[in-house]
Amino acid sequence: MAGVIRRLDEAVVNRIAAGEGSQRPANAIKEMIENCLDAKSTSIQVVVKEGGLKLIQVQDNGCGIRKEDLDIVCERFTTSKLQKFEDLASISTYGFRGEALASISHVAHVTVTTKTADAKCAYRATYSDGKIKAPPKPCAGNQGTQITVEDLFYNVNTRRKALKNPNEEYAKILEVVGRYAIHNSGISFSAKKQGDTVSDVRTLSNASTVDNIRSIFGNAVSRELIEVGCEDASLAFKMKGYITNANYSVKKCIFLLFINHRLVESAALRKAIETVYAAYLPKSTHPFLYLSLEIAPQNVDVNVHPTKHEVHFLHEDSILERVQQHVESKLLGSNSSRMYFTQTLLPGADCSSSEVVKASANSSAATKGTSDKVYAHQMVRTDSREQKLDAFLQPVNNPLSTGPTEVTTEVKAGPPEGAVRPPDAEMEDVGDLVEMADVQEDTVMPGGASESGHLSPETVPPRKRPREDADIEMEKDDTRRDMTAACTPRRRIINLTSVLTLQEEISNQAHANLQEMLHDHSFVGCVSPQWALAQYQTKLYLLNTTKLSQELFYQILIYDFANFGVLRLSEPAPLYELSMLALEDPESGWTEEDGPKEGLAEYIVEFLQKKTEMLKDYFSLEIDENEDADSASTTWKWTVEHVLYKAFRTHLLPPKHFAEDGNILQLANLPDLYKVFERC
Ligand code: ADP
Ligand code: MG
Repeated sequence: MAGVIRRLDEAVVNRIAAGEGSQRPANAIKEMIENCLDAKSTSIQVVVKEGGLKLIQVQDNGCGIRKEDLDIVCERFTTSKLQKFEDLASISTYGFRGEALASISHVAHVTVTTKTADAKCAYRATYSDGKIKAPPKPCAGNQGTQITVEDLFYNVNTRRKALKNPNEEYAKILEVVGRYAIHNSGISFSAKKQGDTVSDVRTLSNASTVDNIRSIFGNAVSRELIEVGCEDASLAFKMKGYITNANYSVKKCIFLLFINHRLVESAALRKAIETVYAAYLPKSTHPFLYLSLEIAPQNVDVNVHPTKHEVHFLHEDSILERVQQHVESKLLGSNSSRMYFTQTLLPGADCSSSEVVKASANSSAATKGTSDKVYAHQMVRTDSREQKLDAFLQPVNNPLSTGPTEVTTEVKAGPPEGAVRPPDAEMEDVGDLVEMADVQEDTVMPGGASESGHLSPETVPPRKRPREDADIEMEKDDTRRDMTAACTPRRRIINLTSVLTLQEEISNQAHANLQEMLHDHSFVGCVSPQWALAQYQTKLYLLNTTKLSQELFYQILIYDFANFGVLRLSEPAPLYELSMLALEDPESGWTEEDGPKEGLAEYIVEFLQKKTEMLKDYFSLEIDENEDADSASTTWKWTVEHVLYKAFRTHLLPPKHFAEDGNILQLANLPDLYKVFERC
């Protein structure tokens, strides 16, 4: 028997539509919060009973609803936010279809109490099935609107049965309120159960986004946040937000996504970002993300799903890619601000440290080929290409044209201007200082670290300075390599007690293990002009290039006193500017009482000029009559790696205090890292 086809009652149609539109109390609350925000509220308070099924009350302090509009607020397709069809393309308010209140009023008892700024009193009206039940009644009330929704789904049995767990619904409500609170810093939000004195979500109007994330998701998250933000005019989108760095991970991804200020889901975007994080986080762990995207409204399709949750937009792939790139760049960048908790004391600062002794025992076992087994974690990756940090960084300018091309000497020029120079190639002609270092490797430390290979910590020979030998050797030896010899035909023997005492001081202060580390290190890369990373055996070190250089140049001064070669600068060093720089350094001890720095700098220039002869004799410093050229900048990273650290290898006797004052820090040790990864 065929069933009779009947037209459905309009109220039933509306009820079905309402059920689809607001399937859960949290969805209704979301719509109501958006209405509050559209009404320019600065305070939004949510109170619920039985997970919102018994009661939802949303109170705001916004513009209110005019008395004459109260008749129709709950009718379908009534809205104060859209007049013409064309407005659809540029909506900036949340609601625009006039459906939310209408839908809710078809599945619940709705009461609206509201007062506009210029009304004398508030008005209250109740609604059922989209219709006002009686004319609005005047009552007392503050400016703003309070909407009460009672017995949600009282007339939709199936829906009510599907929502039998009020706790679950309450959790969902807190989630929605919390997320809107984070997205709307500057507006205070609260959410609580009716009768409770304490709110479960509470944010203050003067709190920042990060404050709100902290108050809702906790300190552990808020501590590790990176601010993100990018935009692309051609794709007509903007993005900003906060994401956690690689230090933070949780079992389940927390992704707060707002598109045009509406809380939505985008499975595609979630996947795109999780792909980026996969490279940084331990397996099956996830980040916290709060992203706010603004996309030209005409490009967003909010109608994909009746709940308006899952959103799609034009140029989706390109926008996802841009966001991915940006997130990745921020994650990489955040490494520099990562905290390293290390011991300031270098293992092995104490020469009897078992760890260092063990390490060198391992390496000698490996090199001598004894039967001792060398485990994987004791070996260090060595790559023929010696990949350094630079390889992971975007070149700012063409690395091929770097190098200290500005410095030339009488004897041997630096690399020719514009020479093609792969940044990590082993250089022979790296410039004057390095040449000097090479010379001294032979003359200064015969039989030292450079020749004897691995040194046991206790047996590093003191840095002997057999000047006599060197003199003889240098006189007949290879002057091609030695600009010192070329300029100063004989190495002078220095018998000045002051200089000899200083030399002895340096040699007594030397730290054998550090010296060995510096000698055999592999340069990893520059972290900043001040800090660089180097690897030695299985360990990664952070070194203070500034402090090490200071020590290096001091030692060169003391050991090569009166024996310097000449470095003729193509651009003479600007004495006045250098003096000013020196005076600016707090170490100069300058105080107001000394008079203006400018005058002092002039005096210094004059003074140096007066001492031209002595400076030339002892330090090979030639002072020109007039000096006013400014020095061209060299590429500092190249200089650090190929000049400074190369010189540190053979030319520096690192003083003991470097191991204790944080100027050389051990960051990581491979065997320890293996322990970490084994747990993953
Ligand atoms: P829409 O938001 O799409 O316009 P709604 O059904 O959500 O439709 O709301 C209908 C109308 O009721 C709104 O256009 C607005 O004029 C009014 N309204 C609802 N909630 C509030 C509120 N909290 N403050 C002021 N006006 C409100
Ligand atoms: Mg609305």
